[in-house]
Parts: sequence; C-alpha cells; structure tokens
Amino acid sequence: MTPARTTRAQRLAMPLARHVVRDLAAEHGGCVRPVQLRRTDLHTGRTEQVLVPCGHTLAAVCPSCAERNKHLRATQCREGWHLDAEPAITEDEPSDEQRMWIERRAQTQKQRDQAHAAGADTTDLDELAADFDTEISRSGMRGNVLPARPERRHRSTRRRQDAPGLPRRAIAPRTIGRTYTAPDGTTYRPSMFLTFTCDSYGIVGQDGSPVNPVAYDYQRAARDAIHFAALFDRLIQNLRRFLGYDLQYFAVIEPQKRLAPHVHVAIRGTLSRTELRQVLAATYHQVWWPRTDTVRFDDARPPVWHDATGRYLDPASGEFLPAWDEALDAISAEDQPLHTARFGSRFDAKGVLAGTPDSARCIGYLTKYLTKQLGGCHQATTSAQADHADRLADALRYEPCSPTCANWLRYGVEPKNPREGMRPGRCTGKAHRREHLGYAGRRVLVSRKWSGKTLADHRTDRRAWLLETLGITEPDPARYTWMPVKPGDPDHMPPAQRLLHVVADRQRWHTALTEARRRAQDQPNPVLSATPSAA
Ligand SMILES: [Zn+2]
Ligand SMILES: [Zn+2]
Repeated sequence: MTPARTTRAQRLAMPLARHVVRDLAAEHGGCVRPVQLRRTDLHTGRTEQVLVPCGHTLAAVCPSCAERNKHLRATQCREGWHLDAEPAITEDEPSDEQRMWIERRAQTQKQRDQAHAAGADTTDLDELAADFDTEISRSGMRGNVLPARPERRHRSTRRRQDAPGLPRRAIAPRTIGRTYTAPDGTTYRPSMFLTFTCDSYGIVGQDGSPVNPVAYDYQRAARDAIHFAALFDRLIQNLRRFLGYDLQYFAVIEPQKRLAPHVHVAIRGTLSRTELRQVLAATYHQVWWPRTDTVRFDDARPPVWHDATGRYLDPASGEFLPAWDEALDAISAEDQPLHTARFGSRFDAKGVLAGTPDSARCIGYLTKYLTKQLGGCHQATTSAQADHADRLADALRYEPCSPTCANWLRYGVEPKNPREGMRPGRCTGKAHRREHLGYAGRRVLVSRKWSGKTLADHRTDRRAWLLETLGITEPDPARYTWMPVKPGDPDHMPPAQRLLHVVADRQRWHTALTEARRRAQDQPNPVLSATPSAA
C-alpha cells in the first residue's frame, strides 16, 4: 500500500529515525555516545571494531552509563556498610618491570641531587625523573616515590584547627563498629545513616526561597558551599578521634531546596545523638585567606599582566600586587579568619541493620540524585526560586574559590600560580558555575577501607558475573592491542552508525542473558541467579 500524501504538520509529528535509534539504545541500556576502538589480535592479525561505553555519570549526557554508575555506587555502598570483618587490602608483589622503573628512578634522583649540590643545571635530570614517574604510574603502581613538598609556610598556633571541646582518643587501626548482643544471644552490628546540613542563612519558605531575600546571607551561603568538602573532612577527623577507631564512610553531597549543600553519610558503627551533637559543636573549618572586604580593582580597571616578571601590577602606580604567599604572611595573629564554616545544629541520625528493607531504602536515597548535576536536582518552578538561584550565582561570581582563583585580583592580591589573562569574575573554577552551586568537590566521597574495593573493582566484579552468566571466557588481554579510531581513519564509524551497532549488540546480549538466566533457573543449584540485580 502506498502511503497517502502527508501534510507538513503530519510529517513533523512522525518520529525522527535517528531519535528512535538513540532512545532504543538507551532503553536497552546501551551507551548513546560510545567510543570506537580498533582491537588487533596479535596471533591472527585480525582487527575488529569494539565500541566502549563513554562512562559519563550524568543522565543528561548518557542515560545508560549514568544509570550503570549509580548501580555500581549502590553496590559499593551496600558491600561496605555492614562489613563484619576488616576489609582485606593487601598490596600485590611488585613485578620485575615495576622494580626496574623504581631502580632507574632512584639512580636518576641521586645523579640529580649530586648535580644540584655541585651547582650544575638539573633540568635534563628533572625531566628524566618525571618520565620515570610516568612509567611508574603506567606500570600499575600507586602514589609517588617522593611525597609532595610540605607547605613552606608556618602557621601560628592560634590558627591550628584543633577541636578543643572533644576528648581525643588514639585511633585504633580497626574499621568495624561495636556489636551488641540481645538477651537471646543474637548479635547485632548496627550502622548509621546520617544527614548533616549547612547552617541557616535566613528563613526560607516551602519552596526553599528566602522569606526576606535582603536579609538572607548569600555571602555566607556561598562560602560555606565553597568550603563544604574541607568541613566534611574535618568532621570525619573529629569523629575518628572521638570514637577512637578508623571510622569508614560512604557519603553523597546533595543540595537542599534552599540550594545549600548537605551530605548524606552511611557510616560503619554507631554513636549516640548526644555524642554526635558534641562532635558537631566542636567541628569547624577556618579559612585563613586575605580579606575581601574592599574591592581594589573593579572590572573596568583590572590589574595588568607584566610579561617580563610573570606578575600582576597596579595599572595606576605600576607596583606589583602582593604575591599569594606575601598576602598570607601579612595575616597577623590578631586577624580573624576570612571565614569559619560550620554545620547547622540540626541533623538526622538513625541506626540501620544489615540487609533490612530500611537499609535498601537508605541506599536508594543515597544514590537517588547521582545522575544529575547539583544544580539540576531542584529545578526552579517559581520566579522566587529562580531569583534565589540568580542571587546565589551572583554571590559566587566574585567569591574566591581557591588560592589560584582569578577573583583575588579584584581584592588586590595576586593569585597563587598567576597566569596571563586572568580576569576577576571569569574564573573557570567549578565552584562559580551555576550547576555546581558553589560546591566544586566530588559528589560521592568514599573512605579507602569502606568496601576494600574501588569503583573499578566493583565494575570488574560485575563484568566477571556477566561473562560467567553468558558462559564466555575472558580472552587473554596480552593477545590484543587497542587503538582509538579517529575521524578520518578509513574504518571510522560516524556516531549514527555506532549507535546502530550498539542497538544490535544490546539486543543480542539481552537475548543471550535471558536465555542464560532461564537455563540457570532450570538447574538444581542456580548459582548464577544469586545476583540478578547486577545485570
Ligand atoms: Zn555512555
Ligand atoms: Zn575561582
């Protein structure tokens, strides 16, 4: 049957074939912007095109990869929360190759130090050492052979950020909380779900926007958001000192409706509300930065870059601006910190037992918004909310986000590591961007001994499960080389073509997985159906 003639409106209403492909790929859990790699089998010389998922964590960019990441985070959270044995973190024995790189790095260091002592130029040896450092990382070793240089500056004792109100216990190397035994002999090892918020900046209504915008303290809100990660670090340190063991956490940063960050934390072990209140009251983070009360250079007349010295100077007087370290040294013992970040006194705390519906609910809550940007979690629907978001963005525009922030120029201080072209109000730091609401840190903060595994380990677990389910043996990685395929290569597939491959591949996988599950169910001992959620 030939289709009748259609009107323009009818044609516009027809689904666009390319959109259907994208939606179908996403519906099947396939990546919508896969990366193309060329895999060469070194035994046979055969090449094959392999599409690797982009791995993006935001649903707006790739819904499937974002969803997979969220599931991995939920697995990681679940596996660590109620551990009843210390997670085994053992280091692999170094390989011969790894030993060789370390030995060569050591020789270079010695030569370099000797040259330096003799007053000779060490540029070449420094470069060689840097090359070896790269090889050391590439060969699969963690960390650096030399620790980062310690801070040159000394702070006065007044500026030490102790928490004097807290008893300090030595931190035992254990990471597991206490157990409780019920009269019937059952033992419980409860863990906790905690929520800490920022302080109040002014009364807000149901929609999160301030009742009196003029009185709302946007500057403090902006600064608290910028220093939220540091404040959270301090809280964990204080909790560890207070509890006397190496407390482990899985934390997620999220915005409240009033656009202030708050943090949901799963911790291993418990403490009472009274104890929590005590730790919170003693927890603060002081920011010892230069003052920003006076605008010394507005946008019309910013400091100018002096190429010969690599410094900024005052265009009127021709004098250099104080360098970052000089500006810090000028802060005296009588000065106040630029900012002191604290949590609000209100918090949520509840005990959660392993494997309960409650624990599943909390994990769902912890990972709920992970596929969205902070600023995208609460979309403004009223003009009051939109105005509130605008005012916060304004407050963040000229607030220095870090020692290297271009905004320091506005207050007459040269930022750390100055570069040409820095403009106040145009700092590229994440904290200033609307979608981050002042918080530039990572969304998920996991302590090292939480599950004893990295996200990559959890990903490998999931992959191994899939391969086992499908009855596929993992090919020997040494047998293949991988090369990215670039546009212009004869075998390069344009995005639309890659997506068609993704749809076809996912359909094949889905059929194979359903079949494998059915077979597993028919077997008397269905080992494989034990973790159905991993698919
Ligand atoms: Zn993707
Ligand atoms: Zn900045």
